[in-house]
Amino acid sequence: MLKINGQRLWNSLMELAEIGGTPLGGVKRVTCTDEDRRGREWFTKQVTALGCTVDIDPMGNMFARRPGKNNSLDPVMMGSHLDSQPTGGKFDGAYGVLAGLEVLRTLTDQNIITEHPLELVSWTNEEGARFSPAMIGSGVFIGEFSLEYAYGREDIDGFKQGDELKRIGYIGTSPLGERKFAAAFELHIEQGPILELEGKQIGVVGGVQGIRWYDLVLTGEETHSGTCPMSYRRDPVLACTSLIDKIYALADKHGEQARVTLARIVPSPNVRNTVPGTLLITIDFRHPDPDVLAAMDADLHAIVAEGDPRGRVQVSVEQIWYSPPVVFAPVCVDAVRSGAAELGYSTIEMYSGAGHDSVYISKVAPTSMIFIPCKDGLSHNERESITPEDAANGANVLLHAVLKLAQGGSM
Ligand SMILES: [Zn+2]
Repeated sequence: MLKINGQRLWNSLMELAEIGGTPLGGVKRVTCTDEDRRGREWFTKQVTALGCTVDIDPMGNMFARRPGKNNSLDPVMMGSHLDSQPTGGKFDGAYGVLAGLEVLRTLTDQNIITEHPLELVSWTNEEGARFSPAMIGSGVFIGEFSLEYAYGREDIDGFKQGDELKRIGYIGTSPLGERKFAAAFELHIEQGPILELEGKQIGVVGGVQGIRWYDLVLTGEETHSGTCPMSYRRDPVLACTSLIDKIYALADKHGEQARVTLARIVPSPNVRNTVPGTLLITIDFRHPDPDVLAAMDADLHAIVAEGDPRGRVQVSVEQIWYSPPVVFAPVCVDAVRSGAAELGYSTIEMYSGAGHDSVYISKVAPTSMIFIPCKDGLSHNERESITPEDAANGANVLLHAVLKLAQGGSM
């Protein structure tokens, strides 16, 4: 079976990682900085050496195009991002782009021209570390955000995203909203521990978990911690213990894929010798199935309706965000699954727990993702690490998934 050149892929990963490389072995290539610009220039040099043209849209998204036999067909796309967290690793994002580059190099080596053209995309500001929100390049591309909104986002020093994009020279002229993809694939490190723990080589990603965020508020009454007897208190912290138990129990009730996180628990006033008057608890629910997520929502409201067992504290909850689960296109997921099987790799079917550009792209094109293991599940960390072998495996799956969809003329 046709395979990519694993050593060449690895060398490119290491070469790019020198741009913004940190002493601890990570990468600081934050969006719209000079390092980002140098990373983009490096990328352009590699793809133009292969004969690709590069289009840039007004959001700085870069599209390297390799012509096919029938250039009236929509391209099959591979893409991810070249920006990093301020203390990021070498592989988050960059791996997906460089594996796509290695696929193009392999096809060129073999003189293979696909029926569909191919496009390798690097999306602007996936990380959201400097300008929030995350995934804004792909978000603007699909019309989720306006260009004006994106340009106006400010970093903590008051620099605007649009000005910084202009400063590094990446406000392009390729029209937004006109580009179509026949299919799209994003190869990424898992950023979690499942593949490593299960001893599998490839994650076949069926979609992205849905998310519901809530603010749970318990309201009692502030009082003196010394003078007020326990039996007179309306203490929200005392009341929260049984509620927290019940909320965590929803994770067990709704199965292995359910995630329940209560990560901020904030009494007010936050003072040692005052019984707090209120308590805010943030709730993060995740599940790949919207029906299960809705059932978790109903259960939460039932718990809140039951209220404080002692009847001394008011309990209320408000949903503040809902991101529905994403189900990737079966045609793309099948291409990944069968490609991995033909290559003889061990696989596991999984959902992404993190957001990716593919969440947005899946709204405008058949899309799926491929995951490879990363050491200790670590990402957004300078110690982020993968093996050259896993890197090559993922790129081989990408190659064959792309070939499956780029060779048929009638998508
Ligand atoms: Zn990423």
